[in-house]
Amino acid sequence: MKIKFCLIAIICSLFISCSNSSNNQKSNLKLKYLGAAGWEITDQKTTVLIDPYLSRIKLVGNSTTKTIATSALNRDWGDDKRPKYFRDDYFEPDTSVINSYIKNADYIFVHHTHFDHAADVPYIAKITGATVIGTESLANLLRAHGLPNEQIITVKGGEDYSFDNFSVKVLPSLHSALRKKQYFSSDIIPKNVKTPMQIKEFVEGNSLMFYFRFNNDKILTMGSMNFLENEIKGLNPNILLAGSANSRKEIYNYTERLLSLTNYPSIIIPTHWDDFRVPYGASQENAAESKAFPFIEEVKILSPKSKTFLPVHLKQIQINDL
Ligand SMILES: [Zn+2]
Repeated sequence: MKIKFCLIAIICSLFISCSNSSNNQKSNLKLKYLGAAGWEITDQKTTVLIDPYLSRIKLVGNSTTKTIATSALNRDWGDDKRPKYFRDDYFEPDTSVINSYIKNADYIFVHHTHFDHAADVPYIAKITGATVIGTESLANLLRAHGLPNEQIITVKGGEDYSFDNFSVKVLPSLHSALRKKQYFSSDIIPKNVKTPMQIKEFVEGNSLMFYFRFNNDKILTMGSMNFLENEIKGLNPNILLAGSANSRKEIYNYTERLLSLTNYPSIIIPTHWDDFRVPYGASQENAAESKAFPFIEEVKILSPKSKTFLPVHLKQIQINDL
């Protein structure tokens, strides 16, 4: 009996030490929130950008509908003296902001081609020489801006691609159910689109998610508050960049399903929650209070062992320190 007990104890302790050691493996990953759905991920060797959108233009109303909300027209823009943009206006990247924060990039991944995900990508790809991965809509946008074919990898979702020191599974996905689920678009940016493009010409062009594997870290990224259940089911990310704006409330049991399908990741960081029409440094208090903090509270209840927190614009997050 005693021997049996000892054996069980030894086996148990072996299991515990094995699982602990895999948890304790050092991560050299650093993350930086660029605002909107934008991130920089670096493992010292490689720098990957996700949906980098730094221009943060002062767009009045919506880019995806003709209606201009009076609340958007009349809102208090505070100290922001930049010009207002309407959906018919032509987009120009804010190159001085981009130049000050983007120093290098090896790869750029884009979830979909709305302006707040894709509009800065042609310029960033040109200054960094990064390879850009995204939909056919994105490829058309990049070619129209003169990017060479060697820098463009076109995917449709389902690919599982290996790169120098990381790999990525491209997941078909769904866009946020904007405007109380009235939003729908099957448009893609056409091949012969003229540049510069009007803001309204940045149509969705299908939505993707990405599942990155860097050594011991697995990161699942979102550009929308929606997902395809069967595509994310059984994935095992330790880091989830979770879409947390309020359109998540249109989705049935959004947070509960997202976390259980992905096996309750140990680090869950809200993304796409900020007010991306104001410059870096402007207050994000309202956006945090109304979008990110309620999401963080949901996560704390559903997955109490996970680490979850509000990311600050442009501030580096060292995964190993969490
Ligand atoms: Zn969008």
